[in-house]
Amino acid sequence: MSQETIKNKGRGRIFENDVLEFLTRTNPLVIYCIYFPVIGGMLYYGHVHKLLGFRLEAILFVTGILFWSLFEYFAHRFLFHMPANTPRAKRFVFIMHGIHHEYPRDKGRLFMPVIPSVTLATIIFLTMRLLMGWNALAFFPGFMLGYIC
Ligand SMILES: [Zn+2]
Repeated sequence: MSQETIKNKGRGRIFENDVLEFLTRTNPLVIYCIYFPVIGGMLYYGHVHKLLGFRLEAILFVTGILFWSLFEYFAHRFLFHMPANTPRAKRFVFIMHGIHHEYPRDKGRLFMPVIPSVTLATIIFLTMRLLMGWNALAFFPGFMLGYIC
């Protein structure tokens, strides 16, 4: 892996093309503007329309935060740092996560870009909804707050 040196300044480059390169960067504020309203909205909707009590919401929310930690651990363990032997696999790991370790202070690469992020978040929410019904309206916001933190 091309992670021998950690650079505290500057930013890594994934694509030579400036437009493609721009699309790989994400301002954290954009992510906050998307997910904070989702977090608040879901908690509100769950409470008012799906009659989740405050206590249940609080328990689900905190469990969701803890579940994020577990999720992050497994993503790191098995996906982000997976052993890559072929050049394609190495490139995949670098784009997904390696670049973040090479330039850990680059704020433009703390979050996944909006489209893949929202797509993945939607899949995760629908999976939770399937597994736990409307309880997902409090569990998922906890999970997302864990992610944002
Ligand atoms: Zn890592």
